[in-house]
Amino acid sequence: MSVPTQPAEPIRHVVIVGAGMVGLSTAWFLQEQGVDVTVLDRSGVAAGSSWGNAGWITPAMAIPLAEPAVLKHGWKALTDPSAPLHIPAAVDPELWTFLTKFAATCTPAQWRRTMSALTPLNHDALAAFDLLDANLPAAVRSRQVPIHAAFTDAAARHALLEEFDQVRAVGYPVESTPVSAEEFRAVAPAVSNQVEAVIRIEGQRTINPGQYVAALAAQVRDRGGEVRSGAEVRRLRHGPGGVAVDIAGTAPITADAVVLATGAWLPELAKAYGVRTRLRAGRGYSFSVEQHEGDAVKMIGSPVYFPQQRVVCSPLQDQDGGAPRVRIGGTMEFRKPDAAFAPARIDAIVRAAEPLLPGLDLLSRTDEWVGSRPITVDGLPLVGPTNAPRVWAHGGHGMWGMCHGPVTAQMLVQQMMTGTVAPALKPLAATR
Ligand SMILES: Cc1cc2nc3c(=O)[nH]c(=O)nc-3n(C[C@H](O)[C@H](O)[C@H](O)COP(=O)(O)OP(=O)(O)OC[C@H]3O[C@@H](n4cnc5c(N)ncnc54)[C@H](O)[C@@H]3O)c2cc1C
Repeated sequence: MSVPTQPAEPIRHVVIVGAGMVGLSTAWFLQEQGVDVTVLDRSGVAAGSSWGNAGWITPAMAIPLAEPAVLKHGWKALTDPSAPLHIPAAVDPELWTFLTKFAATCTPAQWRRTMSALTPLNHDALAAFDLLDANLPAAVRSRQVPIHAAFTDAAARHALLEEFDQVRAVGYPVESTPVSAEEFRAVAPAVSNQVEAVIRIEGQRTINPGQYVAALAAQVRDRGGEVRSGAEVRRLRHGPGGVAVDIAGTAPITADAVVLATGAWLPELAKAYGVRTRLRAGRGYSFSVEQHEGDAVKMIGSPVYFPQQRVVCSPLQDQDGGAPRVRIGGTMEFRKPDAAFAPARIDAIVRAAEPLLPGLDLLSRTDEWVGSRPITVDGLPLVGPTNAPRVWAHGGHGMWGMCHGPVTAQMLVQQMMTGTVAPALKPLAATR
């Protein structure tokens, strides 16, 4: 049930800052309400973390990052440069404050609280995708696929199974089944026979994230919206005609409202408007290699997660009919979102993935990429009004912005247009 508040001010034209999954979903749902939209990005469409991510639209797996087991990885992260979690040794007092506060949330009780706030998003995530999908070319739409979690030590699967029990206890019906190693290798023959145990998670989806977001941008343009690249927003000014958006090197644009959807850069513009929940870039890396369809041994037919090594593999559907590829990604590196690409992080993923994927030629990789997950200290997105009139924040989805971006966009737009706050948005309040 939604909670009505005071009616929203009439909104006819909105500037959305950030052309990632979150900004473009917001634009799309605003257009559904007849609103004119202008999407501004300082680089281009999917230039941030919305391109080279794994593209898993997997509400069954969208759980809090902060869990008690994360603390075990903390020390390794400081001392082992090849660990999946990487914290630079250089002194950054703000980062240490963030990590200390983050560590304090790694308790079972806090996990349950955060999971309870994420569960309504998980319930509605796929329905929001259905709305977007219906208008996109068939080759780009989200695809239902089983996801496999594969373990080289069978005993390690118990931690994931327990986690699924806890997710069910909070109210999301995860459907998982044990699968024999033989059955799994029929789906993913490129995977090593060192895999001892496999769990299949049903009812989930994947997308090719870069292509999906590009198609969403095309759709926003087709419906009359503007999506402008090379438009760096410097600041906002309030005036009688609405909010003026100052763009570097060009004339400002004035709109009835502005949505800040700038991913890991959200604090740069939003902090001044009361969005004070700490947010840091949790940088992940990925690359892709060709799949050899002619040689079944080299195929990964379905997305695979190796929880022990924290490596994900995603077969990529190619809308343009290119050779099928598989994207391999991982790591969580706490550096600034604009820090230089660190080849050592790719090397660490390759070292972890090579023994798991003997059927793939990881040396012939391309598309090496780094992207910044916008990680909030309390594990929840920031969605809602700021303390400045007509300025809204939408971001901080962390590990799950592809999966949750559309559903929070739908709820945010409802709030903007009607003043009605969906109960699911209350714990996500941007000025909490
Ligand atoms: C390796 C990896 C794997 C992942 N896998 C998954 C997955 O499987 N499923 C999932 O749900 N999520 C996944 N994620 C997380 C997901 O990628 C992010 O949560 C999501 O992309 C965030 O989208 P966004 O639109 O908020 O941010 P972004 O995509 O980063 O977009 C923000 C945009 O704002 C622009 N911008 C910033 N400042 C300004 C300014 N001042 N003016 C104009 N433009 C500005 C930037 O150029 C950028 O394009 C993964 C992330 C990584 C790194």
